[in-house]
Amino acid sequence: MDAAPSSKRPRTDDEPLSLTRSNIWYSDGSVVLQAESTQFRVHASILSAGSTVFKDMFQVAQAPSNFDSQVEGCPLVQLYDDTAHDVEHVLGALYDRNFYKHYKKPFMVVSAMLRLGQKYEFDELRDDAMMRLESFFPPTLAAFKIRGGFLSKIVEYPGLPYDAINLARQTGLLSILPAALYSASAFPSAVIDIHRNILSGLAGADGKLVHLSPGDKATCILATSTLLAKQWAGPYSWVDAPGEAGISHHHCLSGVETIRRTKFLREPSLIGIGAKSVTGGVLCPTCEALAQGIITTEEFKLWDELAELFGLVSWAEIRK
Ligand SMILES: [Zn+2]
Repeated sequence: MDAAPSSKRPRTDDEPLSLTRSNIWYSDGSVVLQAESTQFRVHASILSAGSTVFKDMFQVAQAPSNFDSQVEGCPLVQLYDDTAHDVEHVLGALYDRNFYKHYKKPFMVVSAMLRLGQKYEFDELRDDAMMRLESFFPPTLAAFKIRGGFLSKIVEYPGLPYDAINLARQTGLLSILPAALYSASAFPSAVIDIHRNILSGLAGADGKLVHLSPGDKATCILATSTLLAKQWAGPYSWVDAPGEAGISHHHCLSGVETIRRTKFLREPSLIGIGAKSVTGGVLCPTCEALAQGIITTEEFKLWDELAELFGLVSWAEIRK
């Protein structure tokens, strides 16, 4: 009896990577997808129902023998440039009947749905991913002011704005860029903390540090200074010049001075758009209304300027 070739001999560079079989392996599946070195056995009919690209591919190829290679009698479709993780997340979404019942999705799932949704025209998955991203990085001020918490359809974590910016650059999803760049440039409130985060990175979706591109780092660091100046000239101009805003009561003026000293002077800080009131009850109702009126009006103006501030195309282009 011949000795079987030893599987222990050292691998050479010429040998293919050893293949992994994913848990997504239906024994009655009709096609095997391969991304990186992972294979998935799934149903051509399920892929075709969700994706125009796969539908066309299977219609053109028809018989399994028309595909280059086969695995267990199924045609093998190599997915170049896609990660096994992305493919796993998208197949999970296609096969899980309860997928849409879970309100919040992790960024890794949403980004896979967007990337592969665009590439293979899984339109429903792509639209769902866009809706989830826009729930936290919306194109309108009204939606931005109430974002987060139970309204958010994406799991939140510190590096989410950076991950979202990088994904938007990769996929061309302009609609989330103003709010995501603004989030990276204006939160948390102290300028020193904002800049430290931009330079050091934050915990990303995969648990590793996520960094912005060098270009976006520069954009966000410069934007912080611009936003600080605009804050004094806009929504919080009444803190710098309460008289011009019509705040004249003696005890309200001293209240404004307290706000200026405690919230603005100790360290340069940004009060984010839509932030809860900074007045903390030190103004009388009349002066509070004057201050809030200025904040509301000026926040709208500031929001309108965001696209230009970050060097993007106009809001009108973005909202198309
Ligand atoms: Zn007053």
